[in-house]
Amino acid sequence: MNDMTPTDMQETDLFSKFDALIETRRSLLATGVTDPFSLVMEKVLSPTTAICSGRETILLGTYNYMGMTFDPDVIAAGKQALDDFGSGTTGSRVLNGTYAGHRAVEQALKDFYGMDHAMVFSTGYQANLGIISTIAGKGDYIVLDIDSHASIWDGCKMGDAEVVPFKHNDIEAMEKRLKRIPEGAGKLVVLEGVYSMLGDIAPLKEMIRIAKENGAMVLVDEAHSMGFIGPNGRGVAEDQGVLDQVDFVIGTFSKSVGTVGGFCVSNHPKFEIMRLVCRPYVFTASLPPSVVATAATSIRKLMHAGAKRTHLWENSRTLHKALTDLGFKLGTAEPQSAIIAVIMPDLERGAMMWEALLREGLYVNLARPPATPAGMTLLRCSLCAEHTAEQVAIITGMFERAGKAVGII
Ligand code: PMP
Repeated sequence: MNDMTPTDMQETDLFSKFDALIETRRSLLATGVTDPFSLVMEKVLSPTTAICSGRETILLGTYNYMGMTFDPDVIAAGKQALDDFGSGTTGSRVLNGTYAGHRAVEQALKDFYGMDHAMVFSTGYQANLGIISTIAGKGDYIVLDIDSHASIWDGCKMGDAEVVPFKHNDIEAMEKRLKRIPEGAGKLVVLEGVYSMLGDIAPLKEMIRIAKENGAMVLVDEAHSMGFIGPNGRGVAEDQGVLDQVDFVIGTFSKSVGTVGGFCVSNHPKFEIMRLVCRPYVFTASLPPSVVATAATSIRKLMHAGAKRTHLWENSRTLHKALTDLGFKLGTAEPQSAIIAVIMPDLERGAMMWEALLREGLYVNLARPPATPAGMTLLRCSLCAEHTAEQVAIITGMFERAGKAVGII
């Protein structure tokens, strides 16, 4: 018998598993570098500028691809909804949390994608978590790209399916994995349109053809392509002419749409049952009325944003060429999306470069493992349709000065 009282027992510190990370952080900050993960936007002036540490800064590290956050119609819709419906729903979608605005934003999504069903979640993270864990269950198989977003991996972990990863964007590896799955088992192939760390796109056309030949359903996360890529901004699947073969498109309101929320659109005839069985949809409060109103307005405007899309492609091409010409190593040989990843030699110089850019008046994302593939440290630049050609030229000059100061170019 153990006669020790609980207070006598040696407590195991559950935080000891974080010791290595705490030490990495401590030694990085000991060099005197500004903490890249605790920046505060003191005032946001526009989709492309903010006050950070007291100075005006160009934003090149947001997901505000289409610059909708300050669109006057979007803001007016949000204010009106606040007045008309209050600040929050205080309930789940399946109880008191479905307002007219939630239905309206789902209709806007159906119209945007030309699909039969749309289901809105509180975040894109929850959309992946919910849809993946609910549709792929015990005895089913999920075949997914190894560089998939954390929310996809977490959705896999939450469900009971067998998870089979394959090498990033490797069509043959995907096919091999699919062919090894036992006959008759349910199969879900999970892909992304744009992979957000390097800004590269997936060969969806070939991958979806092979998935279908092997009897798999297909889910594509178009978080980073919605609004921008494809003739109507529906994403990479639209651009490659295969949207009609995608069973489930996952997306988010936190990027091109310019607010917060997530969704799944589908033509599956039984899709609506998801509203009753998908736990991350049922067991959480619905989005505030102001958020769904801004999202619906933004989505409807994105249907007619061809000129913005053209300008954003110009920005992406211009900056990609300028940084290549300066001698920076980039994540893709050609610009494939609105994301341009600048590969840093190591975390220390990555943090120094990040800080040098901030001092110049430029904010980019510092990305490091485990978010990045192959242990890379990246400075991720995401362009916005509201960046002017002049801003892109200023950004290039900032990269040149900072890159030379830190000794990267
Ligand atoms: N999928 C991908 C590919 C993402 O990059 C992200 C967010 N960065 C999400 C899903 C989650 O979106 P949200 O911010 O709406 O939770």
